[in-house]
Amino acid sequence: MKIWCPGCEWKPDATSRWSCAPEGCYHSWNTFDTGGVCPACAKIWKHTQCLSCHNHFPHEEWYHDEAEVSLEAQIDLTVEEAVEVPLTTSER
Ligand SMILES: [Zn+2]
Ligand SMILES: [Zn+2]
Repeated sequence: MKIWCPGCEWKPDATSRWSCAPEGCYHSWNTFDTGGVCPACAKIWKHTQCLSCHNHFPHEEWYHDEAEVSLEAQIDLTVEEAVEVPLTTSER
């Protein structure tokens, strides 16, 4: 799991600090240590501001899985044959 800004690809480090502001307690901490939760007042910050480009992004968008491209990932799509249900017509 890697963390970087979804807008400008800036990577926060251990010294990066966010403030629980303006709608919080103004505590300063590294928001990625706590998953976007203020450790002082437990406010959940769903959006995290980039300290580089200053845009706000949903906190989960900062987390990126490292892409593992393998041949095994190429799954053969077996198309399930549609089961044909015969329509019974009642002839009169
Ligand atoms: Zn707070
Ligand atoms: Zn950014």
